[in-house]
Amino acid sequence: MSRVCTRTRSTVTGNDARPEPFKTGEGPRILRSTAELRELTSHWRCQGFTVGLVPTMGALHRGHLSLVAAARAGCDRVLASIFVNPLQFGPGEDFERYPRDSQEDLAQLRAASVDAIYMPPVSEVYPVDFATTVHVAGAGFDRFEGAARPGHFQGVATIVAKLFSATGPSRAYFSEKDAQQAVIVARLARDLDSGVEIEVCPIVRDPDGLALSSRNVYLTPDQRPDALLLSRWLRECQLAFKAGEGLADRLRGRALAIFGDRGKIRLEYADIVDPMTFAPLEFCAAGARLVIAARLVGLRLIDSATLGGRPIP
Ligand code: AMP
Repeated sequence: MSRVCTRTRSTVTGNDARPEPFKTGEGPRILRSTAELRELTSHWRCQGFTVGLVPTMGALHRGHLSLVAAARAGCDRVLASIFVNPLQFGPGEDFERYPRDSQEDLAQLRAASVDAIYMPPVSEVYPVDFATTVHVAGAGFDRFEGAARPGHFQGVATIVAKLFSATGPSRAYFSEKDAQQAVIVARLARDLDSGVEIEVCPIVRDPDGLALSSRNVYLTPDQRPDALLLSRWLRECQLAFKAGEGLADRLRGRALAIFGDRGKIRLEYADIVDPMTFAPLEFCAAGARLVIAARLVGLRLIDSATLGGRPIP
């Protein structure tokens, strides 16, 4: 049952505060339904707490945990969601075989001191007569991931809008790893008057430069050198820019040279774009975004970096 918030934080003290819903002792509350999610987060808001939301699809790694850490540092209460969202997978993509390990995820989130974890079944999020999706349109959204994965951003926007609506977070945490997604979510938050601040966090990588990804569990040791070509191109672009390269086409050409003679990995795109519109640039500029995607046998890898930004290891 939802409650009407009648107090602000400054008026709530000690015994005056309502008991926290779903408190089961130590550790994060596990929420399976939207009703529970609403009840707990509205309780937090009534207490005057800022709420940080970290949406994930589980199979957590240090990248996800860096978002949790940012939320922990920036908000009074942290909610992580784990939901493999069928709406953002196209036909023939890996929804069925997407890695899932909820016990390990729960252990990691417990260790990271989140306050609650929302992990609903698909039927809770999308009942059989579910009919409302969020359509994303705008400069750049039909390029790169939008072109490679038709319907993907609509699926992302729909689940994010639902999470914002049910949670009412103060801030939500995303990463540059999914650079287009982060821009789309920020636009959605603004366009739908959600009042949610979007924090975009840096990409966490392995020491050799490979961006962490849940799907990396599928990488075999002999595929890793090929997978590293993405971060190699990003690194070379950053270094070339630092050395004075000004023509974006020369950086595009480097990608063709790096990937050209490889058999197993196939470059899908490698481009230098405006960080907001994703329009391809003619000239290199500090702050331009590098985006790259490649297919390695059955696995699709994406990566991103900023020209003049944090160097790739
Ligand atoms: P996912 O579980 O793949 O949907 O990702 C959930 C969130 O984690 C998204 O905001 C991703 O951009 C972010 N994320 C994925 N990989 C990384 C990484 N290597 N470093 C930082 N954040 C990441």
